[in-house]
Amino acid sequence: MELWYTEEHTENAKFSIKVKEQLYSEESEFQKIDFFESEEFGTFFTLDGLMMVNEKDEFIYHDMIVHVPMATNPNIKKVLVIGGGDGGTVRELTRYNTIEQIDMVEIDEQVVRACEKYLPITSSKLQDERVNLYFEDGLAFVKNTDNIYDLIIVDSTDPIGPGEGLFTEEFYNNCSKALSEEGILVNQHESPYYERDAHEMKRAHRKIKRLFPISKVYQFHMPTYPSGHWLFGFASKKFDPIKDIKVEQWNSLELKTKYYNTDLHVGCFALPTYVNEMLESA
Ligand code: SAM
Repeated sequence: MELWYTEEHTENAKFSIKVKEQLYSEESEFQKIDFFESEEFGTFFTLDGLMMVNEKDEFIYHDMIVHVPMATNPNIKKVLVIGGGDGGTVRELTRYNTIEQIDMVEIDEQVVRACEKYLPITSSKLQDERVNLYFEDGLAFVKNTDNIYDLIIVDSTDPIGPGEGLFTEEFYNNCSKALSEEGILVNQHESPYYERDAHEMKRAHRKIKRLFPISKVYQFHMPTYPSGHWLFGFASKKFDPIKDIKVEQWNSLELKTKYYNTDLHVGCFALPTYVNEMLESA
């Protein structure tokens, strides 16, 4: 009998992946965690029935969440990652020798432990000596921290369940306080395409725009996320990601990336007309 993983992208559209076997299924204190093995996407895991990470397309998401801010300001030394329990964002950050400290705050330790077992492709650098893991709510962490970061990356789940607080004005405000004058905030902006996601994207953008003098949105394609069209927000007190990109400096690092390059960096901020209109009205 064939086994399929099916995810509802809207009430009227579903996305399915043929599954070889289910590797893991547990209910943590925060969410339901499932791992599957598939022919098309390799190992993948879902939280509360939503695709998080798979072996085949994770490079797109993790390249874009890390290299866009790093090429904008190569002097970034202290980084805070909120969420990101699979370790993919940390893995990309550890490729920069210039980064001195990476604090990762993940609410659900069980996600990290399961990824260490089933997804070494993303979790392989969580033991890097620059990485400090905190298992607590990112909302409380940024509120209480005295640390000042050069970069905060919000690698969260959607704004439902434990991730909800990471889309609030209070959270963005505390991120702004925990960032240096040169600081950059990159966060999950959902998709502009389907109505519910588009609404969340507009709400997030509206809140961030009020707090940061530079606030932009960039796009990339994620084959396994609803509609395949995904956005990150880029906000900063100082850096404009297009004008301030350090093309030669970044290229001289000779990091091999499968998705990101400095031409794409500039291009990904050019958005479709309907997305621009949404952002203008946010
Ligand atoms: N790339 C993924 C995506 O967007 O589908 C997200 C990656 S990562 C698995 C998201 C993580 O955020 C989850 O492991 C979840 O436990 C964590 N998370 C959710 N809410 C959080 C919170 N309030 N504080 C810290 N981590 C949180």
